[in-house]
Amino acid sequence: MSDFTWSYSSLKEYQNCPKKYYELRIVKNYVFQDTPQTIYGKEVHKALEDYVRSNTELAKNYERYKGLVDNLIAIPGDKYCEYEMALTKEKTPCGFEDGNRWVRGVCDLLIVDGDTAFVVDYKTGSNRYPDPKQLRLMALMSFAHFPQVNKVKAGLLFLAHNQFIPEEYKREDIDKSWGHFLGPLTRLDHSYNSNTWRANPTPLCGYCPVKSCEFNKT
Ligand code: SF4
Repeated sequence: MSDFTWSYSSLKEYQNCPKKYYELRIVKNYVFQDTPQTIYGKEVHKALEDYVRSNTELAKNYERYKGLVDNLIAIPGDKYCEYEMALTKEKTPCGFEDGNRWVRGVCDLLIVDGDTAFVVDYKTGSNRYPDPKQLRLMALMSFAHFPQVNKVKAGLLFLAHNQFIPEEYKREDIDKSWGHFLGPLTRLDHSYNSNTWRANPTPLCGYCPVKSCEFNKT
């Protein structure tokens, strides 16, 4: 494989539109622009991180999430907020900024209780198209970083919808789990090797920062 690094969001961006991936992440002709939704998401993540880590009082407009998060705090085990994990190409743990890193990700809340870990991803947007695949990657990285963990109970927590979408992963299925990423990673590798980055136009092109793209009509 080529010498690229990846995260769940970068791989997803590539799958959505290779051309956008190229423009934003390789030649960096454009930068990702925050939207009111992404700013809100960052603020909520920070508020929940501070609440779980240091019991910092939640701002008035986030108090409605307190009950949901209190349920997570009540789970026994060591709690890691916004926990950074990275792996080398050999899938061994390494530092988040390590020059040999291959993949990395940040877990919103990781709880390790003996041989069981809980991985929680806070969602501040719509629950219409839940995407649990990112939980699988977090579980794989948790297995590598915490060798005593044999089972990961994971979930997407859609805060505004009071909805928790659970998933479960077992250490014995690690190889099968990595297989879920093989297809897109192979395509990404091919794009790097051949330097081909095709456009994948959708009705959302108007929101894309790549203004030079022929499909961006804004
Ligand atoms: S405008 Fe659409 S097709 Fe063009 S780069 Fe952006 S997402 Fe891709």
